[in-house]
Amino acid sequence: MKYFVRTYGCQMNVADSDEMSRHLRARGFSATDDPDDASIFLVNTCTVRQHAEDRAFSEIGRLRRWKAARPDRKVVVTGCAAERTRDFLERRFPHVDLVAGARSIESFGAIVDGLLAKRPADESLDYAAGAPDGRVASFVTIMRGCNYSCTYCIVPHVRGRERYRPMDEILAEVRERVEEGVRDVTLLGQTVNSYHRDGRAGRNTDFAGLLASVGAVDGVERVRFISPHPFYMTDGVIDAMATVPEVCECLHLPVQSGSDAVLHAMRRNYTRDGYLEIVGKLRQAMPGIVLSTDVIVGFPGETEDDFRQTLSLLKAVGFDWCFVFKYSPRQGTPAAERSSWPERLVEERHAACLDLAERIGLERRRRLVGTIQDVLVEEGGAGRTRGNYKVRVAGGAPAGRTVPVRVTNTDRATLEAEPVDVTAGALSAAG
Ligand code: SF4
Repeated sequence: MKYFVRTYGCQMNVADSDEMSRHLRARGFSATDDPDDASIFLVNTCTVRQHAEDRAFSEIGRLRRWKAARPDRKVVVTGCAAERTRDFLERRFPHVDLVAGARSIESFGAIVDGLLAKRPADESLDYAAGAPDGRVASFVTIMRGCNYSCTYCIVPHVRGRERYRPMDEILAEVRERVEEGVRDVTLLGQTVNSYHRDGRAGRNTDFAGLLASVGAVDGVERVRFISPHPFYMTDGVIDAMATVPEVCECLHLPVQSGSDAVLHAMRRNYTRDGYLEIVGKLRQAMPGIVLSTDVIVGFPGETEDDFRQTLSLLKAVGFDWCFVFKYSPRQGTPAAERSSWPERLVEERHAACLDLAERIGLERRRRLVGTIQDVLVEEGGAGRTRGNYKVRVAGGAPAGRTVPVRVTNTDRATLEAEPVDVTAGALSAAG
């Protein structure tokens, strides 16, 4: 018995898909890349942008024929759009067997048991241990939900307020992943660094303490985290990044806009100068740190001057990557009540911002050509640097090993490299 998963949206959804996959594997299913082979088709939806929601809905519509070919098959719809539009989904797509919103992820095992209990008796299952999936990198969710209320964002409506997993449970999952072959752990949460921000749960249970504890787990080579909120990038977190050897010198720190007026209208709770001050501290503590960000263009009320301030912030920071999004109004959010800019203007700003971000990123990558980098090799012979650059190693390299390589070239997103003998001596730089 096989299952197929389609995931839309962010890393949180990717991690949720991983978790749901583990529940399915523990119930005797195995993953397939071919939907025709599957008896469960799981669509993990996103509602952050209208486009992502529309794509998921049209896929769910097409599954009517998939299900009709073998009526015992199950269509399962999960994630943020499932949380927000459950009634619509149930009415519009009667071939869907189960709608489980993003808040149900913690009880997905029990929910899936309920679904499988409806199967004919001759299809009852042997419960088997979850199979390792052979990857060297894995997400580990440490918290769910968000206490913020950014005016453009639907996430708090669909995922609820912050809930933290206990540290011992997180560490147990990290050890389990390590036993499966994982070496590179990414801690995941909507505002991941707000983990136990009030410290009420006792010593060493804040985010900085968690970084140190995860880094200390035997077998963990690399620790990353996503997505931090600038408000919680405290000196303690920066210090932990700089001093815990396993924590990688890379950070995706969403800025969204370079204009104070827009940041205020977005209710982001930091200023342009505050953000730049954090970047200054990060670079002082880790001079080679790889930085990336998210930017929204065309936010309601964003003037030409506001937009230019975003461009100037990108130049001031020099991000290695920048993900540029066109503002997408989401019903039920305060920003959606304000009038939007014409599509053409939003398109123009998007193109200009993307062009600048790509030029800066290329310049950053070119600085790495000729340097030595440690690459943790994944299946297929490619791997990642500590800075999370994807690297193709000439001649391939054994999966699961960390090998020193010399960067020889770069294209739009990837580095090319050749293996080196470090004893020969060569210059290195963070990447
Ligand atoms: S911090 Fe803001 S953008 Fe991020 S999930 Fe929370 S409300 Fe959404």
